[in-house]
Amino acid sequence: MGPPVLRGAWRAKVITLFPEAFPGTLGLSLTGRALDMGLWALETIDLRPFGEGKHRNVDDNPAGGGAGMVLRADIVAKALDAAAVDTPIERARWPVVYLSPRGRPFSQAMARDWAGAEGLTLLCGRFEGVDQRVLDEYAVDEVSLGDFVLTGGEIAAQALIDATVRLIPRVLGNHASTEEESFSEGLLEFPQYTRPTVWQGRAIPDVLLSGHHANISRWRKSEAERLTKERRPDLWRAYRAAHGLDPEEDQEL
Ligand code: SAH
Repeated sequence: MGPPVLRGAWRAKVITLFPEAFPGTLGLSLTGRALDMGLWALETIDLRPFGEGKHRNVDDNPAGGGAGMVLRADIVAKALDAAAVDTPIERARWPVVYLSPRGRPFSQAMARDWAGAEGLTLLCGRFEGVDQRVLDEYAVDEVSLGDFVLTGGEIAAQALIDATVRLIPRVLGNHASTEEESFSEGLLEFPQYTRPTVWQGRAIPDVLLSGHHANISRWRKSEAERLTKERRPDLWRAYRAAHGLDPEEDQEL
């Protein structure tokens, strides 16, 4: 028995060979407090009991040879069926996702979409991954945390759930903080400072101590633009295009 869950609360279901990895960091700080308050719920579905034979085998050699093992389609299907017993079939209301380096890159926009759904099922791979047929048969959405290879999907699942859960109303104490941060407007966030006012000879920019809100906003916006342009030309081009400006020029801003 976990904590009480509020009616209609957002739910995550995670299919994994390592349920003990959860809630992990999701049990800490703001996401953990929200979990305790029933603002969202987390259910792990252990893949192992769906396995076959005395040892509950879930994997087998890759067809065509090669190193490693592949999670079996029939076993993964049983776990996906178990996860689906009380969830909507429409993927818009309840996305079903396989964490995979081959997936479409995860983004803040996807976190926003998912936060607006009723919940999410995440399938964590291990070894060489999952038999392709079960991904095709269940029209599973493949999503990647980035261009690198992890040992398993559990860390990626926690990252995706964290990014999504913090967008659910009331999870962050201060809701406004998700509106100004990186990616929310297509820009990286401006630099942040706090006390002491001078540290190691480095002063906080004067404007931030001026109390002049319009100037502060202007400074933050221009810093956000400068950082985005320097660090993420891809985001910068998209931002300019979204504002009706020539993506390749930057004279007007
Ligand atoms: N052989 C596969 C990698 C398997 S890694 C390939 O080359 O594509 C084992 C598991 O870790 C995967 O099934 C997946 O669930 C998870 N994983 C690894 N890298 C990931 C990433 N960048 N994003 C999300 N999940 C990842």
